[in-house]
Amino acid sequence: MKVIHTVAEMRAARAGAGDLGLVPTMGYLHEGHLSLVRRAKTEGAATAVSIFVNPTQFGPNEDLGRYPRDLPRDLGLLEAEGVDLVFVPDAAEMYPPDFDARIEIGGVTEVLEGAVRPGHFAGVATVVAKLFNIVQPTRAYFGQKDAQQSVVIRKLVRDLDLPVEVIVAPTVREADGLALSSRNSYLTPDQRAAAPAIYRALSAARDRFAGGERDAEALREAMRAVIAAEPQMRIDYVSVADAQTLRELAAVQGQALASMAVRLGTTRLIDNLVLSA
Ligand code: AMP
Repeated sequence: MKVIHTVAEMRAARAGAGDLGLVPTMGYLHEGHLSLVRRAKTEGAATAVSIFVNPTQFGPNEDLGRYPRDLPRDLGLLEAEGVDLVFVPDAAEMYPPDFDARIEIGGVTEVLEGAVRPGHFAGVATVVAKLFNIVQPTRAYFGQKDAQQSVVIRKLVRDLDLPVEVIVAPTVREADGLALSSRNSYLTPDQRAAAPAIYRALSAARDRFAGGERDAEALREAMRAVIAAEPQMRIDYVSVADAQTLRELAAVQGQALASMAVRLGTTRLIDNLVLSA
């Protein structure tokens, strides 16, 4: 496994790799990330993983400074998976002092996470475009856990004709339903015990939907009711939206994306389920 720190070295290593799958991450790897790595390995000749805590996707009052990091552990996990290339640039390598570019994807970035985290998806779209240009993967793998991010990246690739196939893989969960996330490491034992309410709320919407409920507000209300029973939890948003446009629905026809963001103390967690008949 080659560990690479510079754009120039990454380009040189990529040149010899042929068919290549890329898994972009911010590190502090868990089974969710590793599920993407395994998928990439089964579908391609070579596999690259990037580890970069991208400062431009964090707001001024967000958790950039305390975001968990453990590079030696991450490299051990990736080595055990048989990854070929790991790209670990530092911020100065990705953003030299005169860096001035910004990719704005309209529409789908303005709602949900984008409404609560202004500038977040411009940071994501710009860094992912850079990673695609540097690594030039055949395929790139993202998690359904960050459903809106996947929609934004598909749009980035389509609108800018980037020659990459985007693959979105299912969310990996703990036994109690909590979606794996590097940010789960922030939770106190009490908060960790409360956190599965997020999946219970999404499941309540899914169950109501399976029972025939198509009124989107009734589905949102079913989710809010589960979260309201957890006094430590505060809702940022609860949504039932079109899975492609991410616009809030009045009534669900066909598919919809049920999603939410909640705060547990200073930790912000997101999750979603696709509702489909
Ligand atoms: P992150 O390191 O949080 O930026 O995540 C890197 C990639 O892993 C993104 O495409 C995420 O959507 C994906 N990912 C994060 N958590 C999970 C999970 N629990 N299941 C599946 N994919 C995940």
